[in-house]
Amino acid sequence: MPILPLRRLPHAEVLDDIESLAPYRLDESHVVGNIPMAVVKPKSREDLRELVRLAQSESFGLVPRGAGTGKAGGCVPAGRAVVVDMGAWPGEIHVSNQDLTLTAPASAWLRDVKGAAEESNLFYPPDPNSWPLCAFGGSLATNAGGPNACKYGMTRHWVLAVDALMGDGEIHSFGIGSVKANAGPSLGQLLIGSEGIFGMITGATVRLIPKPSEFLTLLLPVSQFQDLLELPGQLCAKGFLPSAFEFFDPAVLAELRESGPEEARRLPGTALAILEFDDRGCTSGAFIAALTEALGPISEHLQVASESRRRDQIWNLRRLTSAFLKEMHPKKVSEDIVVPRSRIPDFFEGLEKLEIPAVTYGHLGDGNLHVNLLSAGETEPAELERQVMDLFKLAVSLGGTLSGEHGIGLAKRDAFLALSDPSQIELLRALKRAWDPAGIFNPGKVV
Ligand SMILES: Cc1cc2nc3c(=O)[nH]c(=O)nc-3n(C[C@H](O)[C@H](O)[C@H](O)COP(=O)(O)OP(=O)(O)OC[C@H]3O[C@@H](n4cnc5c(N)ncnc54)[C@H](O)[C@@H]3O)c2cc1C
Repeated sequence: MPILPLRRLPHAEVLDDIESLAPYRLDESHVVGNIPMAVVKPKSREDLRELVRLAQSESFGLVPRGAGTGKAGGCVPAGRAVVVDMGAWPGEIHVSNQDLTLTAPASAWLRDVKGAAEESNLFYPPDPNSWPLCAFGGSLATNAGGPNACKYGMTRHWVLAVDALMGDGEIHSFGIGSVKANAGPSLGQLLIGSEGIFGMITGATVRLIPKPSEFLTLLLPVSQFQDLLELPGQLCAKGFLPSAFEFFDPAVLAELRESGPEEARRLPGTALAILEFDDRGCTSGAFIAALTEALGPISEHLQVASESRRRDQIWNLRRLTSAFLKEMHPKKVSEDIVVPRSRIPDFFEGLEKLEIPAVTYGHLGDGNLHVNLLSAGETEPAELERQVMDLFKLAVSLGGTLSGEHGIGLAKRDAFLALSDPSQIELLRALKRAWDPAGIFNPGKVV
């Protein structure tokens, strides 16, 4: 398609020079997509209406993009497509203390959404480790989860209402700004985690709760990695639900300590867990004593990060782990399988039996494990494919699935199609046809 019709969009910015387009082939996964025909930054309903009309008449796809921090190749083009960068979409963040809600446009940064809630002494829990970098719209479209999902759940558990561009070129509203709404099945929830295949999210209203007033952050170093694996389930059984329970296996911890930033040099243990509690009273001596008793002998080297500076340092280290490993191993492949808490020990036993050369870190508290194949660049493609498929099959065999939070996108599409119940794939495809009859929204992704 000549670029001219796109240039006639009334308010949008349009990029079409090769230098500007090249970065849009990538996100933070290992996937490299096609060069887009153009990148459009819409600013009005008229822009979107015209974009949909052109996409249908000229048969090209519309690939929604937030900040491009996704790890599944979801926002990179597959086939003839225009990338729709939602970064310039207008709107402001609004907090309602009476309704305990926050409304924001897709273009808002997630950090500003969380910050606006905090300024009102409220709390929006979803905390993907990319929260300082990702867009609100991207976090909704991927149903982002993060360290505190083990206590607070994922993004979808907080979304009340969604506005989205549909195949008729108009923005429609789904849901209302109230925790109670039960007039039929929730269509809005279908958009959360849909990775842009049903429509394009332009904004949403989410639920807030009062901000926790205390945090207890703990470093739990262990000499035997295996000692950590049953802890999430054991702590829950004893009535302790951490707001985060993260871990580094011995290989990741050693690499961080050896080549990571200065603060990483002091990380203790052969393997390490980071636990956080935000219950009222969690910083009291009584709480810490009860927790230490629940942890048992493993708590011998427990460290309390009482100062907020130390807490920030620990979380910064945890957040940079993904980028750090990518810098050290640019061709690594990173998966984010999930298994129920009670099956975490079985997962690691299975991984060892399969002889998959993987290192792991991530969200032990909810069984969402970031399994990294660091030598993927030097592995024969067929062997790499076998390793990844074996990994997914192991997760599925334990009652888990192939992605805990990053989604399917392009990266896991083949495996998703191969490992899912065919009747559910058919149902998803029927839903896609119903929402997007012309097939213009993020074609080639997920299903
Ligand atoms: C260092 C690092 C740490 C991370 N940690 C986590 C983590 O802890 N938990 C987690 O869940 N993820 C994590 N991620 C992955 C990613 O950051 C999140 O999924 C994030 O929410 C994606 O937001 P984004 O704005 O960058 O979306 P993008 O990457 O731009 O897009 C992601 C997907 O959403 C679609 N999309 C984007 N905007 C819209 C829209 N407005 N309407 C419809 N579809 C849209 C895209 O087409 C694509 O399929 C991490 C990534 C990095 C780099």
